[in-house]
Formats: sequence, C-alpha cells, structure tokens
Amino acid sequence: MLEALKRDVCDANLELVRQGLVLMTWGNASAIDREQALVVIKPSGVPYEGMRPEHMVVVNMDGEAVEGEYAPSVDTPTHLVLYRAWPRIGGVVHTHSHYATCWAQACRPIPCFGTTHADLAYGEIPLADPLTEAEVALDYERNIGEVIVRRYQDVDPMQAPCVLAARHAPFAWGATVAKAVENAVALEEVARMAFDTLALAPAQASIDGYLLDKHFLRKHGANAYYGQGRG
Ligand SMILES: [Zn+2]
Repeated sequence: MLEALKRDVCDANLELVRQGLVLMTWGNASAIDREQALVVIKPSGVPYEGMRPEHMVVVNMDGEAVEGEYAPSVDTPTHLVLYRAWPRIGGVVHTHSHYATCWAQACRPIPCFGTTHADLAYGEIPLADPLTEAEVALDYERNIGEVIVRRYQDVDPMQAPCVLAARHAPFAWGATVAKAVENAVALEEVARMAFDTLALAPAQASIDGYLLDKHFLRKHGANAYYGQGRG
C-alpha cells in the first residue's frame, strides 16, 4: 500500500537528519495521498538508524493506523489538521532545528531581512499563538494544528510555507514531502541569518516591498520565471 509514498516519506525523514535539522528523534515528516485520503508518516520513537520505508505508518484522516507495525508519530494529529485545512499541500515536516526553534521559543516571528528569506516566503515567517492551558490539557497535538491554521486565516500557506509554533518549534510544508523538507532547510538558514543580522544591526528594518515582491514573485505564482522549464 502506497509503497512509493512510503519511500518518499522515509527519505524525507532521513534527509532531515542528514541536513542537521533533527537530533535524536525530534522530528517527523509525512505525505498525503489525496485520492485515497491516507497519510504516510514516520513511526513514533523509532531510531533513524536502519529506518526503512516499510517502517512508515499509514493512517486515515481520523488518525487511525490502517497499515504498519508501529504506532504513528505522536504529532500525527497536527499534520492531519494541516492537510484538512489546506488542500494544496502534499507534505508536512516538523523539526526542532536550532535557530528556528530559538525564534519560536522567543515568540518572535522572523522578519524578512533579505532576498534569501524572500525566496522562501512572502514576508515574515508567522508565529502561531501559544496554546492555552485547556488547549494543552486536551487534544494537545490537534490544537497545535488548530492554532497554526488560525494564524493563516489571512495568509496563503503557499506564500509562507513554514510557521513557528510558540514556545515549541517550526513546522514546514509543501506540494510534496521533499519540498516540505527543502522549505524546512531554507527556514533554518533564514532563521540563522536573521539572528546574525540583528546581532550586527539590532535596529534593522524589514526588506523593502519592491525587493520582496521581485524575489518572491519571480520564483512563485503565475508569473514566476526563475529556474528551468517555466514559460
Ligand atoms: Zn515538536
């Protein structure tokens, strides 16, 4: 069942480790098959060493495992909320990568200081609200997804393909799980650059709108022209 997607999800999880975004088991990646309404996700607490596609868990949209010998990642309910809310995403990644997590812990959205960031997102990297005590007590992982979706009420998730969960860490997504990994890698670098930018220039303002527009819109959207094989 979903063998190709299991390979993609296993590769994505291993790539997060190779890229230095995940220590121990602090991360997970998933992908969705929209036609069958099934999600393939990393198993919970299984070491990366020796992780293989057949270890991935297939769950339905209620989070019930329909195939796999392991329990799915505890963060599965968060992934499912994002897939339900945003039909255009095909993969979700969660890490505790160092710099992005520092911004999340500081409860600060990441301002767009330059073109590296503008290539990733059309403006700041949003910060989702902290969870209330009640939201933590009941359905914690689902509520992490809910506060993220709430933050995106007026934001296109494809224009800011990653978010900081307050006091927690980043989530990233994309049309595929490989793209979600790429966005998580780019986010970590952007978070590191922003940190160092503020160290050098504590009062630095965000990038000018015309330069933000140029960089984001040449890579994304209807009139994109960056890269090969476009218009
Ligand atoms: Zn986490």
